[in-house]
Amino acid sequence: PQPVLAVVGRPNVGKSTLVNRILGRREAVVEDRPGVTRDRVTYHAEWAGRRFKVVDTGGWEQDVLGIDAAVAAQAEFAVAAADAVILVVDATVGATDTDEAVVRLLRRAGKPVVLCANKVDGPSGEADATALWSLGLGEPHPVSALHGRGTGDLLDAVLDAM
Ligand code: GDP
Ligand code: MG
Repeated sequence: PQPVLAVVGRPNVGKSTLVNRILGRREAVVEDRPGVTRDRVTYHAEWAGRRFKVVDTGGWEQDVLGIDAAVAAQAEFAVAAADAVILVVDATVGATDTDEAVVRLLRRAGKPVVLCANKVDGPSGEADATALWSLGLGEPHPVSALHGRGTGDLLDAVLDAM
């Protein structure tokens, strides 16, 4: 069976945009409105000659008054079934309490995690990425899912982890 990669993170950090980059086509649902990707969606992908599955997830919202608990449950399921995880963080916002809660959940899951510091659209955003070392997940990979910047290096790290 092909290895499974789960892409998780808060709503609106760019998970679906990243999944589209990984697939090389526009398929996952991307919206400005948080929480639009309601269900887990699995796609077939290939990088550096290796085939794997990518699971896009809805937002992973800890706040019971916020985005659906159902979406959070989907993400937890996705991680449980995954061989590796990309945690997407919005580097322009920095690490939030919700991001830190997700990190704790990922630690408990015990799966390899690659940290994507997304929305680093140019060199001036690199410092924002560096700040995410504070999450304790190792090297933050600066990426612009929107423009494709850094996604190759991110995927190389993911395949190393899988
Ligand atoms: P999701 O909720 O985590 O799946 O986030 P989406 O992929 O739907 O993206 C949410 C918003 O962030 C959309 O308006 C995207 O165009 C925008 N976005 C995603 N990646 C980037 C990026 O690398 N740079 C910038 N500037 N915006 C991005
Ligand atoms: Mg989405």
